[in-house]
Amino acid sequence: MKVVIIGSGPAGYPCALKLKQHNIDVKIIESWTFGGTCLNRGCIPSKAILEIAHRYHSIEEIKDFFEDQFDLKLKWEKIKEHKTKVVEGLRSSLEKLFMMKRIDIIRGKARLASKKSVEIETDKGKEIIEFDKLVIATGTRPFYPQPFSSYRDYLTDSDKIFDLENCPKSLLIIGAGVIGIEMACFFNAIGTDVTVVDIMNDILPFEDPQITRSLKSILEKRGVKFYLGKRAVDIKINGDEKTVIFDDGMDLKCYEIMMACGRVAELKDLNLEAGEVKYSRFIEVDKNFKTSNPDIYAVGDVNGISLLAHSATRQGEIVAENIAIGKEEDFDINIVPSCIYSFPEVASIGINTKKAKEMGLNIKIKKAFFQVVGKAVATKNTDGFIQIITDEEEKIIGAQIIGGPATEIIHILALAVKFKMKVKDLKSIIYAHPTMSEIIIEALLK
Ligand SMILES: Cc1cc2nc3c(=O)[nH]c(=O)nc-3n(C[C@H](O)[C@H](O)[C@H](O)COP(=O)(O)OP(=O)(O)OC[C@H]3O[C@@H](n4cnc5c(N)ncnc54)[C@H](O)[C@@H]3O)c2cc1C
Repeated sequence: MKVVIIGSGPAGYPCALKLKQHNIDVKIIESWTFGGTCLNRGCIPSKAILEIAHRYHSIEEIKDFFEDQFDLKLKWEKIKEHKTKVVEGLRSSLEKLFMMKRIDIIRGKARLASKKSVEIETDKGKEIIEFDKLVIATGTRPFYPQPFSSYRDYLTDSDKIFDLENCPKSLLIIGAGVIGIEMACFFNAIGTDVTVVDIMNDILPFEDPQITRSLKSILEKRGVKFYLGKRAVDIKINGDEKTVIFDDGMDLKCYEIMMACGRVAELKDLNLEAGEVKYSRFIEVDKNFKTSNPDIYAVGDVNGISLLAHSATRQGEIVAENIAIGKEEDFDINIVPSCIYSFPEVASIGINTKKAKEMGLNIKIKKAFFQVVGKAVATKNTDGFIQIITDEEEKIIGAQIIGGPATEIIHILALAVKFKMKVKDLKSIIYAHPTMSEIIIEALLK
């Protein structure tokens, strides 16, 4: 059997590796840098720079412990160098792995030529490849709503922000979703004057309102300005100065504007009609990620189920096993953790209070604050709390954390939700002392 994968991001490359494990003839086509958005302009570069800003922020927090008061300033060039080194190192390891496994990487842009073939435009010209099964894993790109798309060259976005020549003195971020909030946290920590605007009344609309309220208030105390429930309608460019205009007549001036209004599927030029693949904003798939053409699958961001790297990877692996051995595995969106790498971190799994209300569920909430956790006090890390959501029989159905290593602790709760554990099960674990994970037992004892 011949399998072709379009796109080498966290959906495409694990799919290729798994197919190869099953000794299937697989080729992967990539039009840009290997590793996709996640490795080159998403998860990895953003976390590399956020960690530098976080450590810098931590030094600021213990300044009083030093003999001499000093004024440490971060170098933008060094931050960019660090980010590039991290990305290039990981990308090179991944490419070596593909070489070792003898998986063909074709560098070029793919489009469907028919229901059973793709056309690839490479440096050497056009090539047609036939397939038995095709996996589309072409991801997403930043979305520019009207009228902002016509100012694209003057604005920045998550693809361009890591390469800005200078660190902006002031930055206005349009969009208070995950990317907008992580970037607000980063730039605020390194000294940029940050403003976030959004048409919605809350930041991070998919997260629990208690958590987002807390995060917003922490960021406001650090100087981030929020204008929520406001529609930005136009932009004026005057030399280095840019002005965003709102529908109520208000305007805000800044040096850099970042569009963080969500992402759209990378479908442009794929010629999906030739493969009889149905799509609207995203490619339509069934529960096995098959498109309207039963020989063509769509995995990762491009199907719009959840725009997360770990979700993309699991989907890619599920499809590989479906192609190789006909296995059908349910993809349970309810056990996909959501993580935001602000400081404090935010992480959640399963049902939150907002979803429970929408679903009409009777829930119990077990809540504890990091202030009562010994390790949090000892390490000056007391911002935030956990809330564990149970049903009436005390079965754990969700959890949300703000603070500490939330993006690590969440996996304990992910196990609890996946394996339908009850409060008594999680209570039976011995929590090492002192650890930040003790916040779980503090909440369960309530
Ligand atoms: C700033 C930022 C931070 C993020 N942080 C996180 C995070 O912390 N955690 C998390 O889980 N997710 C994060 N994400 C989301 C994550 O990057 C995506 O969910 C993930 O990359 C989706 O993987 P994918 O394989 O579906 O698509 P992608 O990673 O986008 O890969 C698609 C690949 O297909 C290639 N391609 C497209 N069209 C063609 C074509 N016609 N021919 C050949 N190749 C083509 C593209 O060049 C690309 O390399 C972040 C995203 C951004 C932008």
